[in-house]
Amino acid sequence: MSFSHLGLSDKVLSAIEAAGYKSPTPIQDQAIPHVLARRDVLGIAQTGTGKTAAFTLPMLTLLESGRARARMPRTLILEPTRELAAQVEDSFIKYGANHKLNVALIIGGVSFGDQDAKLTRGVDVLIATPGRLLDHFERGKLLLTGIEVLVIDEADRMLDMGFIPDIERICRMVPFTRQTLFFSATMPPEIQRLVDTFLHNPVRVEVSRPATAATTITQQLVAAGRESYEKREILRGLIRGAENLKNAIIFCNRKSEVAQLHRSLVKHGFSAVALHGDMDQTARMSALDQFRKGDAQLLIASDVAARGLDIPDVSHVFNFDVPHHPDDYVHRIGRTGRAGRSGTAITIVAPIDSKSLDAIEKLTGQKIAWASEPVRAGDDDAADTGGRGGNRRRGGRGGRGREGRDGSDRRPRREPAAAQAAPHDEARTETESKTAQSKPQSKPQSRNQSSPRAQKSNDEPADMSHMPAFLLRPIPARAP
Ligand code: AMP
Repeated sequence: MSFSHLGLSDKVLSAIEAAGYKSPTPIQDQAIPHVLARRDVLGIAQTGTGKTAAFTLPMLTLLESGRARARMPRTLILEPTRELAAQVEDSFIKYGANHKLNVALIIGGVSFGDQDAKLTRGVDVLIATPGRLLDHFERGKLLLTGIEVLVIDEADRMLDMGFIPDIERICRMVPFTRQTLFFSATMPPEIQRLVDTFLHNPVRVEVSRPATAATTITQQLVAAGRESYEKREILRGLIRGAENLKNAIIFCNRKSEVAQLHRSLVKHGFSAVALHGDMDQTARMSALDQFRKGDAQLLIASDVAARGLDIPDVSHVFNFDVPHHPDDYVHRIGRTGRAGRSGTAITIVAPIDSKSLDAIEKLTGQKIAWASEPVRAGDDDAADTGGRGGNRRRGGRGGRGREGRDGSDRRPRREPAAAQAAPHDEARTETESKTAQSKPQSKPQSRNQSSPRAQKSNDEPADMSHMPAFLLRPIPARAP
């Protein structure tokens, strides 16, 4: 089925052809006719489903009539992070190649001056993170009374990052008669409440992740001691021993750990870049760019910084930490094995992670194979200087929202509950060489057996045959 039956304009259809898209994805097929009919749409879909084009393409068609006035944008797209906002801008540039529309990106981390100038010229499409948008509004540089279409993208991430009060405020500032397009991967009660309050009789369109039946992700667990330096050593072994490693994303639970691991990998001669919430905008964009182009082989990232980014298929995902939330695990490993290609996801598991691991296996409905003997709590005392106290250092819960404002532009007005509860669990500061010398490993077999080649043993318990079914399953909504 082609795009021709959806009601899109000729200009848009020719841009789609130039992009090389042959047929609409399910969310595009279902949502576009309703957007063109000016209906409110609730799209339950995550990144990778083609949802950006699902709102961009019909918006471009609608924008062909009428023109922008100074300081009064015609459409507004809210994104939780600067990178996502920049990604949506790229989509408007790509799909709007045949249009003469003014697109403005209003995000933090860059000066107000250029943004003011753009707003003054008149904007057809305003793409913004909530904080910077409100800053412009409060400075009197922006009127939201001309908004015809409001898009709220990645709403559940807005919730994670504490932006819901900002979103509510913005929804009250735009005209009641606007059309609202609302996208979220999950529908927790807070998000449902927003939908009930601000959308008018929306059409509900729901799609699951577009994994193909041929998708194959090999998942493995590698046992580690509890200390960061032990995990770093294991990780280096995994990277060096990995078969067919083209590129990899390495996920950490904390941004401090991202920075520390990045420094360590670079010191050990790896081609690595980092992505976390404390980096400035230019550094983040440059890191992503290097990774996308293949100039850097490894991207070390936190969940909040990486979620939703359109990063091309990677051959390997390493979980330096087991994520505290099982759905983060699903998001992380979904970065590899896309479009029928094979991928490998290896998770480094410390004794303290057993509960998080149980939660992942419960959610995914499968046992993940161990590549080495699991180290149970209390087993790894040789590397331990402080007895069981060491365990507590890694015991902080509430990984989601830990970065809070990561990727956006100012402090959320309300911190996420998880972030408030999370203890600040700073990474170890000793140098690796010093620590490694002073603390001999009690379980060298864990490290020795942890290379992917060693993981091909026949006694691995897990059955991978139902992986595709699991990946096709929608991710359940989080508990409130
Ligand atoms: P999104 O879910 O919006 O992040 O899109 C994921 C990726 O799918 C992007 O790289 C798009 O360029 C691509 N894409 C979107 N729509 C289509 C389509 N109809 N056919 C092929 N690729 C598409």
